[in-house]
Amino acid sequence: MTQMNPPSVAIVGAGMSGLTCARALQDAGFRVQVFDKSRGVGGRLATRRTDHGAFDHGAQYFTARDPRFRARVDQWISQGLVAPWTPALVAIDMAGGHPVRAAVGDGTVRYVGLPAMNHIGRTLAEGLDVRTDCTVTRACRTPGTPGTGSRAQWTLAGVDGKGAAVALDGRFDWLVAATPSPQAATLLGDAAGLQAQARSLPMVPCWAVLASFAAPVTAGFDAAFVNGSALTWVARNNAKPGRDPGAECWVLHAARDWSEAALEDPADAVCARMLAEFGRVTGCSNAPVSARAHRWRYAGPGTRTDLACLFDAGSTAGACGDWLAGSRVEGACISGLELARRIAEATD
Ligand SMILES: Cc1cc2nc3c(=O)[nH]c(=O)nc-3n(C[C@H](O)[C@H](O)[C@H](O)COP(=O)(O)OP(=O)(O)OC[C@H]3O[C@@H](n4cnc5c(N)ncnc54)[C@H](O)[C@@H]3O)c2cc1C
Repeated sequence: MTQMNPPSVAIVGAGMSGLTCARALQDAGFRVQVFDKSRGVGGRLATRRTDHGAFDHGAQYFTARDPRFRARVDQWISQGLVAPWTPALVAIDMAGGHPVRAAVGDGTVRYVGLPAMNHIGRTLAEGLDVRTDCTVTRACRTPGTPGTGSRAQWTLAGVDGKGAAVALDGRFDWLVAATPSPQAATLLGDAAGLQAQARSLPMVPCWAVLASFAAPVTAGFDAAFVNGSALTWVARNNAKPGRDPGAECWVLHAARDWSEAALEDPADAVCARMLAEFGRVTGCSNAPVSARAHRWRYAGPGTRTDLACLFDAGSTAGACGDWLAGSRVEGACISGLELARRIAEATD
């Protein structure tokens, strides 16, 4: 696109889907501005740094099956941004009340960001206009005036992390909601068809615990899928490539039903219950030197859909994210790419 006044796009959400969409549209000649409510970028490709070590407390790893995503992963590997992770991985069944272990040899290649998951978002954001600490609270569409050549445009309102209003002066030809579906539905009130679709695709929560230990946990594995338990996943973060091997940091994820039932429970109580279950799963009674729980209210999609993205040329808006295009990190990337393609095609 070689226009004097290229079309502008507001992208709300600087996770994998929003950053992928932003980069594709910017490369296609659009003027793109990205907004995110967090202080950093990457969304659920997240890393928490503490005095007791670093934890990838959202996405643990990702797989790459779609050729478009595999090509990106290959490029990230050559950049030193991503590496395969081959943990000592087991499946643990707790249904009988005690752990029954089986090795996992599924041939799946699992990738992680280097030196941490959140570096993927940081790298994707390079060269993009990204405004962080900015929660977009409202998006309003002003219709164009027929016969005058004036186009419909989107304006945004937002607040910072302290709840103070921030000035968002831009006018945008397109609005992209690259957030979890409930947040997308809030933003898409002036694109009613898309809002209804977003509302029909709920997300589910996940409680995570970030626990560090003074000495290695003698679990006999680095990561485990857990069944029949409050937990679904436990992993030694420092077993991933590029991490500080001396900081014994474990990430525990709770099961969907358990997380839903405990959604509004105090974080300390959740943390204690998940740690107790971790002791039963690993058979290791070491107390952590530090532990905290983090609630992901919108951890992943609750239902599946065949839609790759939401798009409506009539309301000049769309949505992308892992709740479309098959979920997870790979799905978020494909969803962002697909939405960028639809917008570019509609603008030619
Ligand atoms: C506990 C957990 C474990 C996971 N494990 C894996 C795994 O092992 N493998 C895998 O592939 N995937 C995993 N995932 C899923 C993976 O993290 C996501 O699929 C992917 O990162 C989603 O990217 P996204 O761009 O769709 O959304 P997000 O990463 O959620 O990005 C959305 C962004 O929108 C921002 N935002 C929301 N509302 C607003 C607003 N109103 N204004 C401004 N900004 C806003 C948010 O701050 C966020 O940064 C896991 C996720 C969680 C939470």
